[in-house]
Amino acid sequence: MQIDLEAERKEILNRYKLLIKACKRRLEKGDKEIIRKAFEVAVEAHKEMRRKSGEPYIYHPIAVAQICAEEIGLGTTGIVCALLHDTVEDTDLTLDDVKGLFGEKVSQIINGLTKISEVIDNTSSIQAENFRKVLLTMSEDIRVILIKLADRLHNMRTLEHMKRDKQMKIASETLFLYAPLAHRLGLNTIKTELEDLGLKYTDTDGYNEVAAKLRETEPERKRFIQKFIEPLKEILGEQGFKFTMYGRPKSIFSIFNKLKTKGVLFEEIYDLFAIRIVIDTPPEQEKSDCWKVYSIITDFYHPSPDRLRDWISTPKSNGYESLHTTVMGPQGRWVEVQIRTVRMDDLAENGYAAHWKYKASAADKESKLESWLLRIREMLENPDPNALEFIDDFKLNLFSDEIFGFTPKGDMKTLPVGSTALDFAFEIHTQVGEHCIGAKVNHKLVPLSYELKSGDQVEILTSNKQTPKEDWLHYVITAKAKSKIKNSLKEQRKKIAEDGREILERKFYKIKIDFTLQNVNDFCNYLRLPSSQELFYRAALGNIDVKEIKAWVREKEQPPKPHPKKDVAKIEQLVTNARGKSDMLVIGDDMQKLDYKLSPCCNPIPGDDVFGFITINEGIKIHRVNCPNAIKLLSNYAYRVVKAKWMNDAMISFLAGIKIIGTDELGLINNITKVISNENNVNMRSINFDTEGEMFEGTIMIYVHDTKHLNHLIENLKKVKGVTRIERIDEKN
Ligand code: MN
Repeated sequence: MQIDLEAERKEILNRYKLLIKACKRRLEKGDKEIIRKAFEVAVEAHKEMRRKSGEPYIYHPIAVAQICAEEIGLGTTGIVCALLHDTVEDTDLTLDDVKGLFGEKVSQIINGLTKISEVIDNTSSIQAENFRKVLLTMSEDIRVILIKLADRLHNMRTLEHMKRDKQMKIASETLFLYAPLAHRLGLNTIKTELEDLGLKYTDTDGYNEVAAKLRETEPERKRFIQKFIEPLKEILGEQGFKFTMYGRPKSIFSIFNKLKTKGVLFEEIYDLFAIRIVIDTPPEQEKSDCWKVYSIITDFYHPSPDRLRDWISTPKSNGYESLHTTVMGPQGRWVEVQIRTVRMDDLAENGYAAHWKYKASAADKESKLESWLLRIREMLENPDPNALEFIDDFKLNLFSDEIFGFTPKGDMKTLPVGSTALDFAFEIHTQVGEHCIGAKVNHKLVPLSYELKSGDQVEILTSNKQTPKEDWLHYVITAKAKSKIKNSLKEQRKKIAEDGREILERKFYKIKIDFTLQNVNDFCNYLRLPSSQELFYRAALGNIDVKEIKAWVREKEQPPKPHPKKDVAKIEQLVTNARGKSDMLVIGDDMQKLDYKLSPCCNPIPGDDVFGFITINEGIKIHRVNCPNAIKLLSNYAYRVVKAKWMNDAMISFLAGIKIIGTDELGLINNITKVISNENNVNMRSINFDTEGEMFEGTIMIYVHDTKHLNHLIENLKKVKGVTRIERIDEKN
């Protein structure tokens, strides 16, 4: 292909001019020169590079800057960073160069953006630990998130040029992480576009189907909206309102989800659109005018009493303000009506972007955003040993809708739906949570586990003697409360163990045994306890008596047992012995109390026959009975084996691997991931595919609850066209 470089140069300048036009309103003296400089540096740095589409690479940073200016409303620093966002990662330009040319702030933001790229864009799947890193980086400066969102939006808009597997990866991450982030920041327009594009690439058929149906039904819908609106227009006009009124279609993504989750037909969805009334009114009349409009509309159409949402008196924590109602329209159809002012509409569509325009409320919005970021940071900085659980908690908090409750003094607290009185207590203060003994909701006494509703007034009752209990973990859903309770339980245990140590020392002393590390460890092994801390803990509870110590001493003084022979009969004997012992380890029963690990050599999951093996440094390790290492362990170290079984209702997840072999059919990966995501209680951790010629090989690591689920999933995967063989694999890749 012949490339006309001169024409390209002109086009680059053209796009640059459009960018300047988009930020013009906010440019102050000297700003234009700085942006020009960033533009020139970026052009020079990327000059040899092209995008997958063949276009000059510089089109991308300019487009990202354009989104930042137009759709997010970032200022000069943001625009400069957007133009430079890929330079440090992809070109010879260094962070120091950027710092020298544009100063500290710009280089900080570029550094954040580069770090995110390293963890997300260059690894095969987002893993728990990476996810945490990304969010920590993002929350350093809000602009890092905003520019990353713009970057992702442009990449999604141009995703057609990527290979299929890349498309899948990028689109899934978009749905998993970026769309919820945009939602939380109140960037509604961007969120909707990200979701629709995400769906387009993860479920192309589903997307096309909904899009086609929407097109088909458009004329009818337009007529209906016209009929609905017309009489209202007249009355609102007579009353002297300045307003616009229109029907607004719901996004393809949200319609698709409704079809899937509610199991209804497209024709049965009544809220394919909402009617929006945007009034132009001075700030001091906003609220009363919105209610006046509400009154006019409900005089004309009958409202459904339980579908009134007043987000004007109490805006959502992402800043959303609007008055929603659902009324009975012509032809007996329910219609959602959204009433808001021009300012509210602007904020709802563009979130952060609209701040600079509405100075009066900017401080308030800013502080909301700050408190949201603070909450993220709190969650991230509390290191939780189980990173996966962290993601679940975090995503729950990110996705969920909110409720708000009030303290007796009238302070409002926002919490995710499903939060309990105990969550509320921790939301007020860690100390309040830890000493919480109950609560009064709307003046009535309720238990800690009481689930709050929006508008509840909550008074927390505390006692200095109260401390967090194990079962509290079942009562809370916020990440904050969970991690605080866990920390406190750990501390309690440590303290009790310290007392137990002294108790045990006195007991040893009584029968004249030296209280040495060696002896303590020996005694631990004798009792099959995972750690000395566990031993001390039991001693403190009075579960260790002198008789046991004496028995151990007697055994210690006997000559060591002869080494068992490695014949099969003997091994079988040992297995039976080990499993006949009364000390039964129940896996999944209270993670806090047991120090055990699932061995990575065989990745056991519930349903597998397993045993526990006491290791010196790592507590008890759980192996499958048919683990390749089992024979060695069982034959040489039978005394260290503990019988183990799975708790029945263990709602914990276990990592398992499966390998899929087949022929490279069109849509194969898509179909496989669809099967997996349709399976209940199964979560994908990573997915790796390789194709060679016609052959296809994939490794998928998933979290499942037990073998039943895994086998069910494997059966379903076998039915996918093109799959020829599936096997369970042991080693992590
Ligand atoms: Mn980029």
